[in-house]
Amino acid sequence: MNQHFSFEFFPPKTDIGAEKLRDVYRKLAALKPEYFSVTYGAGGSTRERSLGTVMEIQQKSGCSAAPHLSCIGDSRAELAELLDIYKANGIRHIVALRGDLPSGMGASRGELPFASDLVGFIRETTGSHFHIEVAAYPECHPQSMNLDADIRHFIQKVKAGANSAITQYFFSADSYFHFVERVRAAGVDVPIIPGIMPITNFANLVRFSDACGAEIPRWVRKQVASYADDTASIQKFGEEVVTGLCEKLLEGGAPGLHFYTMNQAEPTLALWRNLGLAG
Ligand SMILES: Cc1cc2nc3c(=O)[nH]c(=O)nc-3n(C[C@H](O)[C@H](O)[C@H](O)COP(=O)(O)OP(=O)(O)OC[C@H]3O[C@@H](n4cnc5c(N)ncnc54)[C@H](O)[C@@H]3O)c2cc1C
Repeated sequence: MNQHFSFEFFPPKTDIGAEKLRDVYRKLAALKPEYFSVTYGAGGSTRERSLGTVMEIQQKSGCSAAPHLSCIGDSRAELAELLDIYKANGIRHIVALRGDLPSGMGASRGELPFASDLVGFIRETTGSHFHIEVAAYPECHPQSMNLDADIRHFIQKVKAGANSAITQYFFSADSYFHFVERVRAAGVDVPIIPGIMPITNFANLVRFSDACGAEIPRWVRKQVASYADDTASIQKFGEEVVTGLCEKLLEGGAPGLHFYTMNQAEPTLALWRNLGLAG
């Protein structure tokens, strides 16, 4: 089976961050991923920086760039303009999302309120040019009533034209396998790639997880708490936990892994080495 490995970056805010990212993508390019994806701030809040990072990666990294695009708060015209630029520059892969509006940007959802609307819009305006990834939530999207509703909405994105999916990160392999089973039972067979979050800065991880609804198991929290400020032990333990998760996922048939690198090479490289992946 052809496995899919990809790495996600966010657009750096400063020149120093941009230089650091260059070093990171050079190191990770050696692993020959399918693509490097670049996040996009909802409502166009990182539009220029995301575009600049995507172009640099596409032209200089030796790997394909896959821009994220979110629809909430953006107009059709703004999205069409970006799609035109990406198409003209040889981009073939898009990660299509609804996004979450940053606080202070008002409550308007814009012309395309859900990711399925964005997927439909991309197909309508660019046909089959792009391979479209969408988000999936094995532990249920935090705004969903329940998993049934969330799976229905996920399937709507596939019916609108998505080719494959990347999941929100999670630490329970069972939630992933259960989600995939439910989607397959509904007759939908697109690849669903687990999103993997290396455990590095635990305070940040807790903050992200509370916001995005990813559950950190109690035993992980307790063990990390016992290390107090011992960062090296937290990172070593985190690496063991996430390596074990990746092994379970790949052994259980996951079609690849998408790493949330947080613009750092080493935590992802360590997982890659532990998993004995080629590169
Ligand atoms: C791999 C990945 C990458 C991400 N990258 C970014 C990024 O670059 N920028 C960013 O801002 N955010 C990003 N996010 C976060 C994402 O934008 C948020 O999780 C957001 O809250 C939901 O986006 P979505 O595309 O899943 O939305 P949707 O699929 O539209 O779902 C959002 C919510 O609405 C519900 N819903 C969907 N359709 C309907 C409908 N027709 N009627 C009623 N309810 C409906 C869903 O069940 C869900 O609860 C990413 C998430 C993942 C997993």
